[in-house]
This record gives sequence, structure tokens and C-alpha cells, in this order.
Amino acid sequence: MNKPLRDTDLVPDDDGGPLYAAGKKIYPQRVSGSFRRIKWILMAVCLGIYYFLPFVRWNRGLGAPDQAVLIDLANNRFYFFFIELWPQEIYYFTGLLIVAAITLFLMNALGGRVWCGYLCPQTVWTDLFFAVERLVEGDRRERMRKAEEGWSLQRGSELVLKHSIWLMIAWWTGGAWVLYFADAPTLIKDLVTFQAPMVAYIWIGILTFTTYTLAGFMREQVCVYMCPWPRIQAALTDEWALNVTYKYDRGEQRTSLKKAAQARALGEQVGDCVDCNQCVAVCPTGIDIRNGPQLDCIQCGLCIDACDNVMTKIGRPTRLIGYDNDINIHRRMEGKPEIFKPLRARTVVYSALIAGIGAIMLYALLNRSLLDLNVLHDRNPVAVRLSDGSIRNGYTIRFLNKRGFDRVIAVDVSGPPNAVIHIVGADSIVPDRPMIILARDATTELRVLVDSRPSSEEDLAPSTPVAFHVTDIGLGEVASAKDVFVKP
Ligand code: SF4
Ligand code: SF4
Repeated sequence: MNKPLRDTDLVPDDDGGPLYAAGKKIYPQRVSGSFRRIKWILMAVCLGIYYFLPFVRWNRGLGAPDQAVLIDLANNRFYFFFIELWPQEIYYFTGLLIVAAITLFLMNALGGRVWCGYLCPQTVWTDLFFAVERLVEGDRRERMRKAEEGWSLQRGSELVLKHSIWLMIAWWTGGAWVLYFADAPTLIKDLVTFQAPMVAYIWIGILTFTTYTLAGFMREQVCVYMCPWPRIQAALTDEWALNVTYKYDRGEQRTSLKKAAQARALGEQVGDCVDCNQCVAVCPTGIDIRNGPQLDCIQCGLCIDACDNVMTKIGRPTRLIGYDNDINIHRRMEGKPEIFKPLRARTVVYSALIAGIGAIMLYALLNRSLLDLNVLHDRNPVAVRLSDGSIRNGYTIRFLNKRGFDRVIAVDVSGPPNAVIHIVGADSIVPDRPMIILARDATTELRVLVDSRPSSEEDLAPSTPVAFHVTDIGLGEVASAKDVFVKP
């Protein structure tokens, strides 16, 4: 029988009670099923990447770091496999963050809080800590019984073992983090011989503490009280998004297994929910999904597995709880077929944005210049007139050689009439086209003088565009930068 929605279902009771309720200890039960399997696989992939990525090597040639992913703060470089980014290229990170945010919106529009349930670090580590707890202390009933029984030698040793494993995981989580900032094998040696920089020990300490506290003790409270995403995502979702939903059109009226069998034998219609509470027992946030959509639900799908197992046992169709939405519940109640609409304006726009920004970033990355220059005009004096009548402007040019080898470049200038360029400290073998050697993977800053000898005063405007060009003599690679040439 269908459960009619009443106004009182939607309005919280105001019983004048306290605004703060003390957190209750939750003992999630072990469960097996397809969503649990997906969560195990994703956990293994996420943790595997996080813990072991710093040990992956990537040959970048002699003298360059060979760690595949490295944030080299000392030298202002970020290495990601074949990509090496300089501080000037921070916009790639901006693009990446934008793509990540829109991907999160897309996931939300398609499957609700998929991120929260499967990929969020808080979920992943809490799940791992739960697994350790179950391994050491037993499943739900056993843990509840032990908590009530109080202290004993065995209980004490179990708790010591559990917290030791938690601390080891937390410590390794902090340890893995610092390995992204230096050569991992070298840093490990330095850490164990107490020769690593103090900041490494501080970060390990901070992350050990936060992982141990957040995943071991605060758990679902982080999702419910601290994380802003549940509030934001509620504003980003729409009625078509698929969320973990109790299909009350099929489940109600709830009846015990025995009574349901008797009622069915008499030809009466009863719901499929046998009120076994298995969906509540497995829930990591301790809620009853049958009460409808809740902020506390991280959409992990474990209640789907629990209910599917019950339905299979009692010979009823599975997915009494499943990824669904209220539109379909009402359609089924009206005898209409279900509709799923993954293709909607918002999902199309999100997908197009991800594809568009991703394509622009890829294009920019594949076509990024490995030879660059930035020009800064002298401020004082802005221009001087020389004794031979020509006008001189001074600049500071920063040359960027992003390649892993030294290279010879020639520098030209164009714009002002009869312009001649001199690089302070560099002899010109070719007149008016000085050549310099740029050190590999480095920035070279030089002072440059440009002289212009106009045939008449009118031949030179008060401010003339000037362009500097550099050419790699060996590779033919070119780069340019513009500024202005001014009259005194
Ligand atoms: S109600 Fe279900 S989907 Fe939501 S958090 Fe609990 S087990 Fe996960
Ligand atoms: S697990 Fe399924 S049958 Fe059991 S209480 Fe939950 S919804 Fe009802």
C-alpha cells in the first residue's frame, strides 16, 4: 500500500527541546553486496594512489628529479609525469580546480552525493578505520556488547591494538603527504635518521593527528556538522538526480515477515519492507533511510546492499532501496512507467564546460612555450639621449628556458627606427644580434639596452611599440615579448 505524504512529514516537531543533541555512538554492521564491493575497489584505488604514487619514478634526464609526481617548493616547480609546470603557469591549476568543481556538480546532478559516499577522503579513511575496528573488536552486536560490558584485560588489549593500527595508518597518511614534496626514498632515509627538515616532522604530526581524530572519532559528525558540501549540493541538485531512496510506494505498509506471509496468503496487499532494520544497522551515519531524504545521508549505498540481501532471502525483488527519485515514486504510484533523465540542460551544460575547459587546457599544455621572456622597462631614467643624438631605453629581460638542457639563443629587437640592441655583459658575435647561453631549466635575468637613431625628431613618436624576439639557434624555437620605447 502506498504511503500518503502528510504535511507533518515535512515539518520538524518543535518540542522546545535543546538545539544540541549529544552524538550517539554508531556501530555500523558489516555488509556485503555490489555497492560495498564498489566502495572496496574505490578505496583500494584511492589509497593505493595516495600512498604509493611518490615512489613512482619518471626519467627526465640527467640532473632533473626522477619522481613522477613532485611539488618542488625549493625550486618552484611542479612535476607530474611528463608535465613540468613553473610558477608562471599557475593558471593550469586554476583550470584544473574549475574542471574538478564542475565535475563535482555533474556527479551531483546525476547521482546525488556520489562524491561523499565513495570518494571523499573523510569517507574513505573512516571506512578503513571501521574495517580495522570490525577486524579487532568484531561486528556490530559484538562491539555493542563489549561496550556495555565494561573493562577487562581482553577488552583493554583489543582497544590498544585497534588504536595502534589506527595510529599507524594515520602516521603513514601524514608520512605519504610529505613524500610529495621531496625525493621520496631520500626523504624516508632522512626521516628515520632524524635529518629531515623540521617542517616535515611537523606536517607528519599534524596529519597523523587529524586523520586519527577525524576518521577514528569524529567520523559521520564531520559530514553532518562540519562539511559545507551537503548544504551547497542541496542548492545544486534538482528533482531528477538519482539519490539513495527508500521506495515507499513498494515498501509500505511495513509488516513483519510472519504477518506479511499471513496477509499475502489471505490475498491482502502488504508492503515489501519487513521492518528488519538491517538498512539502519549498516548505515555509517546511523540514520533510517525510510524516513526520506536526510542531510546525514552520505549516499554510500550500503543500505541498498543490506536490503537487497534481505529481499533475496525472503524471495522478494531486490532494490526496495535503490538509486531513484521522488518523480519515479509518484509515477509508479500513478501506474505510469519510470523515467530517468540523465540528459538534462544542467548535465549537458556541465559536460560541455568540462569538455571545453579540458580541451583548452590540453591545447595550451601541448602548445606551451618552453622558451619565454618577460620584459620590464627601466623606471628611472625612462629614456636618455646619447652624445651622438640617438635615444636609449633600458629594460630588464627575464629569459625562461624550460628545457632540460642549456641552449644558445639570439636576441633581436624591432619597432623603433634603426633600433640596435645590447645585452649588458654579453659580447655580440653577430652585430646587432647578441647571443647568450641560457642555463637549462632556469630563469636568466639580464639588462638590455635599446638604442634608436631616428632620421628626424618627427620620425620617433613619444611612445613607440618595441618587440623583443628570441630564437633558439639549435632548435629554431622562437618567443617574443612587447613593451614600449619612449622619447626623453
Ligand atoms: S542511509 Fe544508506 S546511503 Fe545513506 S548513509 Fe546510510 S547507508 Fe549510506
Ligand atoms: S532492510 Fe529493507 S526490509 Fe529491512 S527495514 Fe530496511 S527497507 Fe525494510
